[in-house]
Amino acid sequence: MSVENLKNNDVALIGIMSDANSSYKRGAAAAPEFIRRSLHNGSANLCSESGVDLAGNRRFVDVGDRQVTDDPESFLAIEDEIYKITGQGALPLILGGDHAISYPILRAINRVNGPVNILHFDAHPDLYHDYEDNPWSHASPFARIMENGLASRLVQVGIRTLNKSLRSQAERFGVEIHEMRNLDINSIGRDFDGPVYISCDMDALDPAFAPGVSHHEPGGLSVRDILGIIQRLPNRIVGADIVEYNPQRDINDMTATVAAKLLKEIAGRMLLNAA
Ligand code: MN
Ligand code: MN
Repeated sequence: MSVENLKNNDVALIGIMSDANSSYKRGAAAAPEFIRRSLHNGSANLCSESGVDLAGNRRFVDVGDRQVTDDPESFLAIEDEIYKITGQGALPLILGGDHAISYPILRAINRVNGPVNILHFDAHPDLYHDYEDNPWSHASPFARIMENGLASRLVQVGIRTLNKSLRSQAERFGVEIHEMRNLDINSIGRDFDGPVYISCDMDALDPAFAPGVSHHEPGGLSVRDILGIIQRLPNRIVGADIVEYNPQRDINDMTATVAAKLLKEIAGRMLLNAA
């Protein structure tokens, strides 16, 4: 369906095929097609655990994929693509692509909502000032987001790669980090004031659950950990992304299946909380 027909509080599913800002391996640009195929392959129904059925749901609208080329202008134009959704009061659910896309996406969220709470699942804080001289690197989106005042709070969950420079960046920006090594899962997501944006990097999950990512980082979250946090969120969810799935690294579509599961549960929560 086209973006022109979106209504207020519809959830708009959109794929952003971009991985030019990946630092190690490319492949995430191809992810949206694989995640959709897993969602619709008939192995499971389209009902979220919280009881929202996406099958035939008029408020769940798939607006298709957008191709992004390797030049920075094409990358930054992601903002305008997402604003076509947010500008109409609809709620974007974005399939990446690498994590770099969260910066232009948050710019489009900001144009409508102002600074929002960000709930960020990741093995990595993605706070480098730049990486390999690329300020748009997938290792840097949250530095750009914080510098530009796009977040009222940035809460990161599942982090297990902090070095000295990342710790000082986190301190500088006032990032709230729930490190994997001493995680209290039940404490997360209960104290947000106002709207929330969810950014889910698939490498937040333990590679045992989600091997189809470019950066394997053992010792991560379970699928149930993330589902539980999402299911407990009472706040309006103004947008979400599921990024860094790399089909080239997947085994038996395991990770695509997990991404589709997260998609269902996040979309369900978005629809429930916007009602
Ligand atoms: Mn990331
Ligand atoms: Mn990551």
